[in-house]
Amino acid sequence: MKPQLILNQSLANWITQFPLIQSLTDYAETSWFNPAIKTSPEGLSHVGLNKLDIDEAAARLERFAPLIQVLFPETAASKGIIESPLVPISHMQAYLDKNLKKDLSLNISSKLLLKQDSELPISGSIKARGGIYEVLFHAERLALEAKLLKESDNYAILASAPFKTFFAQHSIAVGSTGNLGLSIGIMSAKLGFKAIVHMSTEARQWKKDKLREQGVTVVEHTSDYSAAVAAGRAEAAQDPNCHFIDDENSTRLFLGYAVAARRLRQQLEAMHIVVDAEHPLFVYLPCGVGGGPGGVAFGLKTEFADHVHCIFAEPTHSPAMFLGVYTGKHDEISVQDFGIDNVTIADGLACGRPSGFVGKAMQYLIDGYYTVSDQHLSQLLYALHQQEGIFIEPSSAASLGGLAHVLSDTSYVERMGLTPERLAQATHIAWATGGSMVPHLDKESYIQQGKVSRTL
Ligand SMILES: *Cc1c(COP(=O)(O)O)cnc(C)c1O
Repeated sequence: MKPQLILNQSLANWITQFPLIQSLTDYAETSWFNPAIKTSPEGLSHVGLNKLDIDEAAARLERFAPLIQVLFPETAASKGIIESPLVPISHMQAYLDKNLKKDLSLNISSKLLLKQDSELPISGSIKARGGIYEVLFHAERLALEAKLLKESDNYAILASAPFKTFFAQHSIAVGSTGNLGLSIGIMSAKLGFKAIVHMSTEARQWKKDKLREQGVTVVEHTSDYSAAVAAGRAEAAQDPNCHFIDDENSTRLFLGYAVAARRLRQQLEAMHIVVDAEHPLFVYLPCGVGGGPGGVAFGLKTEFADHVHCIFAEPTHSPAMFLGVYTGKHDEISVQDFGIDNVTIADGLACGRPSGFVGKAMQYLIDGYYTVSDQHLSQLLYALHQQEGIFIEPSSAASLGGLAHVLSDTSYVERMGLTPERLAQATHIAWATGGSMVPHLDKESYIQQGKVSRTL
């Protein structure tokens, strides 16, 4: 068989131009720190959104808090604000320390924290930020336009029967590998919308079951994620009362995620953790299509400017954002074009083609990208469970694989002015993007898998 050309070039040519493609197509764990990143004001000027947009998103979430509290009593403690804990994981830090090469060992004074979006209320993943925000945005706009609602109202009234009847005339559709569908489906159905979630058949059965229980229509597609999205979009386009949520290009989803950063700042302050030039912050973000990590990183840059270093994590079998930014071709290419199969246990990250919007908007603000093998994901998931008693899903575990890459890349560390003194005072945050909704039996099987793979 004649080898396929990728954008009119042979794979060999691509590899000559971009040598790391060899390693990516070999499914080897790989990292790349982008030499083209810019300082934060300049980098932020490429995003097309600014801090005021995040202010607006944060204010909208505040307006909706009384409603969220009514609809989801589990958010009572936070008064309807959907937020997750930030916790030190010192035993896991010691484990990583021991398992990293000796000369890389984490200086004991640097801190490793876990951001537990895996525990976010309503849908147990980072998608509870962006997905729910976009549904609320849409609901608010419809209700305001219909003059059923004023911004000054207590939004708890949106839970009343007349609003349910009103929202029932509208539908919300989304294409999703799972967690986005869960967030959008649950929130939409709760408000009374007709909710339609397009999924690929290989999406986890429990996610489909959970959605159907809530009255969401689940449409299964035999193809992969991108095709499920395309089919959903085409169907929604025929119905003027249907709002399609576009995971790849939505600035609303992006802003919903971005609000996380200002809340993280408050959490760090409450823990007396300083972030400045002498105390850098590293944040490791598992990346699928890019909206979640991209939005969070955008927020982080507006809060901490150059003192925060955002690094994206992907499975060795789905390095879509890595390839897109590294080659500068963004959504013009997919991992499959390069013969990479996009098959991974990290189902939340199984995206073959990155968001072009996020890749381009954030390319000057993301320090680096790395890949983690499925076996390593399993081991990290298992280790976190053993060391801390915390369960996260495989996608989340990708966030724990980044420290070694940062600490071993001397040219990156030097280029960024990260002296040993600064590194010793650094804080590292692994962003655990999902996990608490995984059913008990699936959890057990992930943990068992990790235990076995540890000894391979
Ligand atoms: C969706 C998801 C991500 C990544 O978010 P993207 O917006 O697809 O990049 C990471 N982890 C989990 C568990 C997810 O569900």
